[in-house]
Amino acid sequence: MNELSSTGAMTDDRLTAEERIRYARQLGPGVLTEEGQARLRRSTALVTRVGGMGGPAAMMLAMGGIGRLIIAHGGPLESPDLNRQVLGSEAGLGQPRAGQFAESLRRVSRFVEVEALDHEPDDAEALELARRCDIILSCPPTFEERLRLNRAALEAKIPLIDAAQWGLTGTLFVARPGQTACLACAYPSAPPFEKLFPVVGAISAATGSLAALEAIKILSGTGDPMWGQMWVYDGYHGRTRQFAVARRENCVCQETG
Ligand SMILES: [Zn+2]
Repeated sequence: MNELSSTGAMTDDRLTAEERIRYARQLGPGVLTEEGQARLRRSTALVTRVGGMGGPAAMMLAMGGIGRLIIAHGGPLESPDLNRQVLGSEAGLGQPRAGQFAESLRRVSRFVEVEALDHEPDDAEALELARRCDIILSCPPTFEERLRLNRAALEAKIPLIDAAQWGLTGTLFVARPGQTACLACAYPSAPPFEKLFPVVGAISAATGSLAALEAIKILSGTGDPMWGQMWVYDGYHGRTRQFAVARRENCVCQETG
């Protein structure tokens, strides 16, 4: 590796001088190595959706130096979204979310490429996207979508980070196909879904940021990812729990992994 391109410029194994300046505060002991930062730049993440949790997750990945983001989110931005959807703005109310959210991400980093889908992918598209990615950050509200992304990650054999929220509580689950439990091990069937469930933006952003942190660790090879762990922060009572999810017999991950 470390080859020179035909123009004599360094190819993507090393950081440019500009990148060293941009990421100066996150390079060094206890944070990322230069090699890890370059690996992050060569990585692609699918983040769907990019609202209360996926928005901060995508923003922290963009600011942290991921090379490419594929974001998916349908529908227009509405007033109740602005208690938590940090990629939106007052000016964007009534406008489709995907395009304006992609612009918000490009505004915070000139180093990131963003591809925006104005809808939530179905089974076939989720798999096609997963095959173009190194990791999936699953941040939709419905179990149907979360379990679809879980299946896509298993088929494509890439890690999945699932983030969820309700009220003042946030949960994260980090899965590695073939080695840990998958999301369907934790939720064999989709629990009942409440369309307009309560949520406070502060917990959405905290959970989304931690999802991004796990992704940055996995993609750059930093620290110990929470493989197979479910992390729960009950913000109402200020309590944290973390436990390993056991692999379930006859789960979809036993067939693919
Ligand atoms: Zn499973």
